[in-house]
Amino acid sequence: MPHPTHQPIAHRPTADPFDTGFLQAVADGEIRLTADQALQLHQQMPLMELGRWADARCRALHGDSIRTYVIDRNINYTNVCTAKCTFCAFRRDEGDDDAYVLETDTILSKIRDLEDIGGTQILMQGGMHPGLPLDWYEHLLCTIRQAHPDLHIHAFSPPEMVEFVNFFDPPGSSFEDKVRWVLKKLQSWGLHSLPGGGGEIFAPAVRSKIGMGKCTADAWLTVMRVAHELGMNTSATMMFGHIEGFADRIHHMDMVRTWQDRAIADFSADGGGRYMAFISWPFQRENTPLGRAKNWGEGPGDDLSQPFPGDVVATLDGSGTKAEHPEFGRRVRMAGASEYLRTQAISRLFLDNVWSIGASWVTMGPHIGQVALNFGASDMGSVMMEENVVSAAGTTYCLSEEVICHLIRDAGFLPAQRDNAYDLLRVHDGPDAPDLQVDDWSSQRAQALHVQTEACSGAADSPATLTIKGS
Ligand code: SF4
Repeated sequence: MPHPTHQPIAHRPTADPFDTGFLQAVADGEIRLTADQALQLHQQMPLMELGRWADARCRALHGDSIRTYVIDRNINYTNVCTAKCTFCAFRRDEGDDDAYVLETDTILSKIRDLEDIGGTQILMQGGMHPGLPLDWYEHLLCTIRQAHPDLHIHAFSPPEMVEFVNFFDPPGSSFEDKVRWVLKKLQSWGLHSLPGGGGEIFAPAVRSKIGMGKCTADAWLTVMRVAHELGMNTSATMMFGHIEGFADRIHHMDMVRTWQDRAIADFSADGGGRYMAFISWPFQRENTPLGRAKNWGEGPGDDLSQPFPGDVVATLDGSGTKAEHPEFGRRVRMAGASEYLRTQAISRLFLDNVWSIGASWVTMGPHIGQVALNFGASDMGSVMMEENVVSAAGTTYCLSEEVICHLIRDAGFLPAQRDNAYDLLRVHDGPDAPDLQVDDWSSQRAQALHVQTEACSGAADSPATLTIKGS
């Protein structure tokens, strides 16, 4: 395993976080940023300088040469969902005309397409469908495992797990016991690891406004802890750039870092899992109820000389309440490219115990994703064959393996395909690299992707054809 065992790292809370010697020690993994120091850097350090320090931390962990990607496929097995997150354009009620549950044969067909292009894992998530019994998941997982024994199944984010507990009423005297019972069942049927979907922002004031019916942060973190106890690796995510304050982002990362410390301390000697990656991205507003909220400064009575409502409410310990500002939750502060890079850079510096930071090119576009490799990201994520959730809320992008390798090489690194454990499968250091086979790049442009399209799974030289959601 190329991933260092985390050792407890000292804080130096009274240190000036802008001091070069202090930052060098952070980059070298010798000192841990406090939440307050991270917030100061986030708010005050010039963007490029912040990027250079995040890059230094990334290079200390991952070296100067290789940056990775994975070939997997998002499979959203249903869009029926009991929750009503205000940032979601994907969910449907049972009975809606365009509500769906994918047939097992359809899922198997998607997996065959994935394996045809060298894919190694599926990322399978759904809405939280109250009508699917536990048997349905048993049949699905066992069928996939039988037909594709080498495929890594990365599926069912914590909010789904919490609803499984509610829907199936498993045995156990505590929530944790019930989660353990369900996870063990899923694991025995073929589930390997859990994606970090549904993290959003952990602070209760924000979460209760945007994640209507979605699990609490404590439940989310508890599901992941049980998964780690059972030897599963997971990822963690954060969706920002909406109603939250800057301190909420740091608090969110602090929760991940704290629970990761516990997972490593309690489970790593017995083969336990941990958070392998952290991926953050800005909220996409199109087609969402939250997207109709006014931008801060555009609402009646908004005064831009005053702090953004989210910043008034946000605290580094997550204790802020909505009562602290009358417009909290009614105004959004969208995040663009530089805000995304700034937040990602802080995540690399702050999350000293998480191996990989993923670039979010799916929402930010391939070229910002490429730049993100110099702002702390070590991984370009997945070649995108299909994406339905974020794409329902705005433009996302679709990249072939050739393009993703080209972007990594063009950024100054060697592209390498990885697996779910972040072990390298193929390092593209020879003339047979996928990107080096392409003569005509005019057919390899990144494609805007609005809903599942087979275009990216097709031959490398066939231009993508967009299909629009609902068609
Ligand atoms: S984000 Fe997920 S949990 Fe929330 S409404 Fe959409 S599908 Fe449901």
